[in-house]
Amino acid sequence: MADRSFLAWPFFEPKHRELADGLQRWCVDNCADRYADDLDSECRMLVRELGAAGFLKLCVADGDTRPDVRSLAIARETLAYNSALADFAFAMQGLGSGAISLFGTVEQKRDWLPRVAAGEAIAAFAMTEPECGSDAANIQTSAMREGNEWVLVGEKTLISNGGIADFYVTFARTGEGEGARGLSAFIVPAAIDGLKVAERIEVIAPHPLARIRFDNVRVPADSILGEGGEGFRIGMETLNLFRVTVGAAALGFARRALDEAMSWAKNRRLGSATLADNGVTRATLADMALAIDSSALLIYRAAWQQDEGGIDNRRAAAMAKLHATEAAGRVIDAAVQMHGGAGVTRGVKVEELYRDIRALRIYEGASEVQRQIIARDLLKGSSSGGETA
Ligand SMILES: Cc1cc2nc3c(=O)[nH]c(=O)nc-3n(C[C@H](O)[C@H](O)[C@H](O)COP(=O)(O)OP(=O)(O)OC[C@H]3O[C@@H](n4cnc5c(N)ncnc54)[C@H](O)[C@@H]3O)c2cc1C
Repeated sequence: MADRSFLAWPFFEPKHRELADGLQRWCVDNCADRYADDLDSECRMLVRELGAAGFLKLCVADGDTRPDVRSLAIARETLAYNSALADFAFAMQGLGSGAISLFGTVEQKRDWLPRVAAGEAIAAFAMTEPECGSDAANIQTSAMREGNEWVLVGEKTLISNGGIADFYVTFARTGEGEGARGLSAFIVPAAIDGLKVAERIEVIAPHPLARIRFDNVRVPADSILGEGGEGFRIGMETLNLFRVTVGAAALGFARRALDEAMSWAKNRRLGSATLADNGVTRATLADMALAIDSSALLIYRAAWQQDEGGIDNRRAAAMAKLHATEAAGRVIDAAVQMHGGAGVTRGVKVEELYRDIRALRIYEGASEVQRQIIARDLLKGSSSGGETA
């Protein structure tokens, strides 16, 4: 069982501790021994179950309030500790609907958010294109206004929940200005003429992912989020809201790897002693614990700052995501090493974690992009340049 002593830190309120305990209990009852043989059905079921249990309410704005980032981070840490797929199902309901929570009209919120929170509508965030990922300012998918409709043409790739989503918050070029200044965001229902899943993409850890085509997809004029030309800001603010929580998922994976490593080390005999009696192993375990605590401090500092509001949180969020995802990669690698051959054997938990962690250093802003955000904030006033995803 993971170290939960961090819950006594001053960043938290009683509701956060209750969430951590309640969700851990839910995971014990619902996440054990689940196998993603049919990935799509498994994800749909997890979304429904998380919705029925009331946890997806955390992912959406309640009236005019923003989602509570500490709650999102605790939820993702707890879910990732127990099941990467449950964490994925939860996280995408937040990221996919985040732009509606932050920028939607009363009607847009009313039409989508209750269904997202109930687990009845699966959400997706469609920004990346074959020719532009990190460089989101160069999005080529276009949206042209024709009468009372917008007509979308283009292609998105690596879209999580692609193929199972009920709607895609989609970023497209509307041409109000050059580059980042000429983008807008739209709510596009999945069941609409012209929207096609062009390809399902398999990655190293189970994850519904697809390339999506928009062939003259017509959506009503009121499908736009915010004003025309605000799409880049909408996308970046949505990513910034959830950035810390990617670090929190990495933290959950890392805590699980440390627990697996400790349990293995205590039981694995090496001559007359166990691995845990060996000084080199003990030093490795200490380094793993240090990496985990430093990640947790950065994550919950950033989440607390974000909830407090009033200050620019981009540097703290970028530091949390960068450090936690990179550190988790090292912690999990050390856990695999400690397991020896068993560590690379299919079905062993640390082997699963080794695959689960990798994409977190790439999506929602690769590590290099996080370094740029941190450096830009440090050098504020003396440098310029557009933000990347
Ligand atoms: C599992 C998974 C799920 C995803 N889900 C979604 C989703 O739901 N919605 C969505 O829109 N996208 C999604 N993506 C796409 C993801 O956001 C992109 O992969 C990411 O933004 C990187 O873009 P890219 O793959 O085109 O790589 P590129 O932008 O081509 O970058 C390649 C590499 O170059 C380096 N690099 C990038 N920028 C810089 C820089 N400024 N300075 C220095 N080095 C740099 C980094 O190492 C990066 O990994 C997902 C990706 C994966 C793997």
